[in-house]
Amino acid sequence: MVVAVRRRRALLSGWLALLFQQPRYGGCGSAKTGSIGWWNRRIWSRCPWHQGAAMAGKHKETSGESSFPKNRGEEDNKEHQAGTDMHYPKETVRKRQNSSRSSRGSDSSRASRRSFRLDYRLEEDVTKSMRGKDGKFVNPWPTWKAPALKNILKWALTEKNNSNVPSSKEELDKELPVLEPYFVQQPELAGRTDSGIRVTWLGHATVLVEMDELVLITDPVFSHRASPVSFMGPKRYRAPPCTIEQLPKLDAVLISHNHYDHLDYNTVVGLNQRFGGELRWFVPLGLLDWMQRCGCENVIELDWWEENCVPGHDEVTFVFTPAQHWCKRTATDDNKALWGSWSVLGPCNRFFFSGDTGYCAAFEQIGKRFGPFDLAAIPIGAYEPRWFMKYQHVDPEEAVRIHIDVQAKKSVAIHWGTFALANEYYLDPPVKLEEALVRYGLQSEDFFVLKHGESKDLHFDEECFENKPTTFMSTPMDVDKMICEVQEEENKKCVLND
Ligand SMILES: [Zn+2]
Repeated sequence: MVVAVRRRRALLSGWLALLFQQPRYGGCGSAKTGSIGWWNRRIWSRCPWHQGAAMAGKHKETSGESSFPKNRGEEDNKEHQAGTDMHYPKETVRKRQNSSRSSRGSDSSRASRRSFRLDYRLEEDVTKSMRGKDGKFVNPWPTWKAPALKNILKWALTEKNNSNVPSSKEELDKELPVLEPYFVQQPELAGRTDSGIRVTWLGHATVLVEMDELVLITDPVFSHRASPVSFMGPKRYRAPPCTIEQLPKLDAVLISHNHYDHLDYNTVVGLNQRFGGELRWFVPLGLLDWMQRCGCENVIELDWWEENCVPGHDEVTFVFTPAQHWCKRTATDDNKALWGSWSVLGPCNRFFFSGDTGYCAAFEQIGKRFGPFDLAAIPIGAYEPRWFMKYQHVDPEEAVRIHIDVQAKKSVAIHWGTFALANEYYLDPPVKLEEALVRYGLQSEDFFVLKHGESKDLHFDEECFENKPTTFMSTPMDVDKMICEVQEEENKKCVLND
């Protein structure tokens, strides 16, 4: 009973902190006075990067065996061997490429196209961002309902919290092990993915993605609380798998919205201290000032469907795309900044990061315009009770629908297993995801779950094949499937032996 009350109090305090905190607690210090306030000094003194040594020790305790191959060179050789042993017919690959290109039409030629700017003839096919009379952003879909204070209180005070996160570290280590990411020991491998894409889950919505010679991170949070203050608000029950110092060199950060579990002041300052103006920040409309007050110089602020790129890498286009959510960091800044998702469109790979979102019509539009994506990062947690959460957070079933809508070849589950933000049992999200995948006739590997710190390499090849023929890496089974697809397209019978 005491535990339940404490949990309820923790949840409520987090939400009330979001609602009632003063603007000066909001993060970046006051630009007017030019000084860092007492609250921020408190936050500063607890910065994860100030405690680097202590954190590293802690991670050693919690880290287990990384799933990333220990001897990558050896693995590469093996995989490559598999490809050559099969005597994979180059002609078949070329046919497969041509057929997939023509099926996409000229609008989606991934190899040659750099700009995805909206054609005025297509504007009616997509939903633009909208503001109310007060100038604040609003969700343009009928699937949205704003979280009223009355409902926040009803949820926090009357709904049973079933999260039941164990207090025992041993039990958490068993259920949700935190692995040391591969790049801590082998930083030289970061960014080396040939034509493939590699994803590493760093907890909650923080995902490190390596693709098309770029290293990106989404909604980076390395602090121990998702809160404006260090003594209350949602506390993470699984530590970040690495420190900011242990990250590989990053090219870009993608921010989906300004809630504390997605935009963390200490992490922004820490990343900026480490990478400075070399690091490009992609942020939603309305966040530029906040980022600049944090000291970040290389910031690109975008509206929905606007695009930009990392300097020197104009072959990869970053498009800010819609999502159904909301924004708030202080008592008075509700929805003054926009929220959304990111579509990263490279010559070899396409990556979609949905941010926080309720289910809405945006994803079908994104899929039609930019799909198929090679990888999507989609939230599966913080969804109970549905009457309150459904407008802002999808449940695992809706996450699968987003996976289908955006035409993701693979998706990685995020936004679970790190902070207890809602009422579902803390281990439920992956279980419900698996059930939903079965209902939709999909496999576990289509929408996979990673351990904290774990990486996964994906290689689809397709268009990049012509440019980089030596990088083909695929399992013999994949090769068989591809050959079959081509034969079936030519109306020949094909049987897959497994
Ligand atoms: Zn949020």
